[in-house]
Amino acid sequence: MAYSQRPYPIAAGLAGRCPQCGKGRLFHGFLTLRPKCEVCGLDFSFADAGDGPAVFVILFAGFVVVGLALVVEFLYQPPFWLHALLWGPLILLVTLGPLRPFKGVLIALQFHHDAAEGRLDLDKRQ
Ligand SMILES: [Zn+2]
Repeated sequence: MAYSQRPYPIAAGLAGRCPQCGKGRLFHGFLTLRPKCEVCGLDFSFADAGDGPAVFVILFAGFVVVGLALVVEFLYQPPFWLHALLWGPLILLVTLGPLRPFKGVLIALQFHHDAAEGRLDLDKRQ
């Protein structure tokens, strides 16, 4: 089945939808990929986001949480228990919240750009 109008990869990834048809769901559970799209049948075995989503989330979360913690510490000097109370839940929110959309976007972009591990094309050298 040919899809002449593919969804915009970032929109499909953020929504957790199939990068080919934009309708089928990409995930089964929180971060587990489905074996294939239930609508168009695209095999998701090509998808390997690796540690990419976690790296982006760590950079984002570190910037937000550490930045806010430093601002609050310099402005108000609150006790340490208040730091723990403030930043503990925020860390969970800014790490677990964007993890799935980031993984979806990276997989959709991988499909869109036909990205894969490097392969030797020995036939063309002859
Ligand atoms: Zn699909």
